[in-house]
Amino acid sequence: MEYDIVIIGGGLAGLSFACSMMDADIKILVVEKRQLALLSDPQEDGREIALAHLAVNLLKKMGVWQLIPADVISPLKSARIFDGDSPTFLNVSSQHHVNDELGYLIPNNKICKALYNRAKQAKNIEIITDIMVDDINRQDTCSQLSLANGEYIKAKLVIAADSRFSTIRRKMGIPALIKDFSKVMVVSSMKHEKPHNNIALEYFQYGRTLALLPMIGNTSSIVITVATDKADAILKQSESEFNQDITQTLKAEFGEMELQGERHAYPLVGVYSQTLISHRFALIGDAAVGMHPVTAYGANLGLRGQQILASTLKNALQNGDDIGSINVLKSYESKQINLTRLMYFGTNGIVALFTNDTPVVKQIRKIALKIAAHFPPIKHLIAHHLNNTKISKFLP
Ligand SMILES: Cc1cc2nc3c(=O)[nH]c(=O)nc-3n(C[C@H](O)[C@H](O)[C@H](O)COP(=O)(O)OP(=O)(O)OC[C@H]3O[C@@H](n4cnc5c(N)ncnc54)[C@H](O)[C@@H]3O)c2cc1C
Repeated sequence: MEYDIVIIGGGLAGLSFACSMMDADIKILVVEKRQLALLSDPQEDGREIALAHLAVNLLKKMGVWQLIPADVISPLKSARIFDGDSPTFLNVSSQHHVNDELGYLIPNNKICKALYNRAKQAKNIEIITDIMVDDINRQDTCSQLSLANGEYIKAKLVIAADSRFSTIRRKMGIPALIKDFSKVMVVSSMKHEKPHNNIALEYFQYGRTLALLPMIGNTSSIVITVATDKADAILKQSESEFNQDITQTLKAEFGEMELQGERHAYPLVGVYSQTLISHRFALIGDAAVGMHPVTAYGANLGLRGQQILASTLKNALQNGDDIGSINVLKSYESKQINLTRLMYFGTNGIVALFTNDTPVVKQIRKIALKIAAHFPPIKHLIAHHLNNTKISKFLP
């Protein structure tokens, strides 16, 4: 079998890249290890993805936004950040008009389902599921992939979108900087009695952080970040213990809190690949840059990155250039590094500042929040970033 492009991984990055290439006159194959039923109708995974306007516009252009049911899209009006028991908070809202949204919160599985449905409409995209890529053997004019079922596939270009724990990246001998935060995010959906008014809240308590992300109706996504050794205790709490814990932690600000469905745990590991390309090969999504989720950039940057790669390749096709050549791919790499490097390392720095509870760091954090709250240029800078490139669920 021969294709122009093979995409390994049918998650948010892999499928959005396929959708971005659906108008190109080339043959594309997506190889996904999950079963078809899980790809076509993914299960709820607790991830509420905050999408900034730019990402939303990209999804609209791809014809994907239109396939996301309106009743799962929750507008985010503003975000408030609290430190310890201090009543001071940093309020981040749209720079333009008080009533403008900062962005939208959407369950990850609904975005992925819409991406799959859109990709299925394309004549030039084939999707195979329940299969792994075993190896990639690069040659001068093509890459040869061997699949776990013994079949071989040839492609001019292979794109790996196989998550931050990318095995393909490793097989290709590409090193990555990996930052283990030794923390776990426990996410769940909870109903409450009082409205959230579409405001996200982040409490930096000592020992753990708690965020509320406004979903549709009186429901919020609750995100608890704790040290890895404390996560199990939260996951093992009975429903009523958990409800009581969150109600009390929030000082009943939203009335009684009631768990809906499962609690999901995500170990916090950041990844920055040392190179994003090599001959007939490119990395996208979390496989290229796996952000700490606290600043909610991952999917936003993944969407931007795949769009940069897609337009680079479309230009190359128009000019009759080889889409697998390093010269073509270099342009994608340098743009994506420019877009992500500062955000990745900046986010890690902010995480260090906001999750370290030594007395000195606590003091610095208080000062940082006060300065940001009382110094409009800093706040505007934050809001500007939120409105244009990304959305911070939690952090200044
Ligand atoms: C708790 C949490 C909250 C988040 N919130 C936000 C947010 O608010 N905003 C935001 O922008 N981002 C957020 N993110 C980040 C966002 O979820 C990720 O950036 C995004 O989902 C990454 O997409 P991806 O396609 O690169 O990787 P993944 O979603 O991990 O998909 C990888 C795919 O590759 C497949 N695969 C893996 N290996 C192989 C193989 N060898 N062969 C074939 N297929 C393979 C997998 O089955 C999977 O389908 C959050 C993340 C977490 C954990």
